[in-house]
Amino acid sequence: NFQDRTVLNVGRLPATLLDRLRQHFTLVDAQRPEDRAALLARHGAQVQALVTSAASGAEAALLDQLPALQVISSFGVGLDKVPVAAAHARHIPVGYTPDVLNDCVADHAFALLLACARRTAEADRWMRAGHWPQSTGPFPLGRKVSGARLGLLGLGRIGQTIARRASGFDMTVRYHSRRPVAGVPWAHEPQLLALADWADYLVVITSGGPQTRHLVDTPVLQALGPQGFLINVARGSVVDEAALVSALTQGTLGGAGLDVFEREPAGNPALHTLERVVLTPHIASATQETRQAMADRVVENLLGYFGQGRLVTEVARG
Ligand code: NDP
Repeated sequence: NFQDRTVLNVGRLPATLLDRLRQHFTLVDAQRPEDRAALLARHGAQVQALVTSAASGAEAALLDQLPALQVISSFGVGLDKVPVAAAHARHIPVGYTPDVLNDCVADHAFALLLACARRTAEADRWMRAGHWPQSTGPFPLGRKVSGARLGLLGLGRIGQTIARRASGFDMTVRYHSRRPVAGVPWAHEPQLLALADWADYLVVITSGGPQTRHLVDTPVLQALGPQGFLINVARGSVVDEAALVSALTQGTLGGAGLDVFEREPAGNPALHTLERVVLTPHIASATQETRQAMADRVVENLLGYFGQGRLVTEVARG
């Protein structure tokens, strides 16, 4: 039991995870930004661990207000909002939850891909609106998924899981990343533009942050083309969303399935009026099983650090 350890939470986390943190530690829950200043003034000097989520992150400046901070534990695998460099500069290890979410994020990429290609969300809207009995022609035709060409932008833990799923659909897979991955059966494409030109479906599953910002821009969308589909389960920042809206509006891109957006939770109202777009609110990892596994890992990382001096899954330093 580590009730003598003070843990500060600044992320939007499941209530069950907060309860588990309270069982082991003294929890200061500052997830509401309006409570933060007062809670920091009162408890900041005692805080030894910081908990957040990949989606909520934390400001690097927060670390300056936590002089006793020893460890960070984040719920999720994305690091674009987590102050990793600032933490490592202070020799503070950062825990995260890789791998336990690979399956569900890969499954969701296929849920979006299939929904776009086979027009399932559109068909559902059409039936609910009562159009079937009145219709004279067939519902608009979709595009075939089985046997098609799948381009992956990113072939890390999740990208490789998506590529394995694709073999069940007899798809041909190629990928683009800065470095080719050793020992995988899929062809590396050094140019993203060439990958988009080749692919029927382009799935974005890189990390976020400044290095991948707007990798998917107008030329890439044009290369994907009017029969092509873009699926993004990585980060909204990887896609130039204004370029995407105009490609969809002008019909130079076939459709898009998006779980992530440049602004969250605001989203992009310009996308809401487009038929060939399937939108989900950043839920690729959001199943009961996977969210439980992620919550378990947030707690295990802290228990590992305070008990054995080692996190279970730590972000590599250096
Ligand atoms: P990994 O770190 O294992 O993989 C990242 C991949 O991105 C690697 O293949 C890497 O290859 C590639 N990459 C990074 N930078 C570039 C670049 N500039 N150009 C081309 N490729 C690049 O991460 P995961 O697979 O575990 O997760 C990927 C991302 O998915 C997370 O960072 C997160 O943002 C997002 N995610 C989204 C979720 C959701 O709910 N929608 C849930 C979980 C994760 P290389 O370094 O060789 O370029």
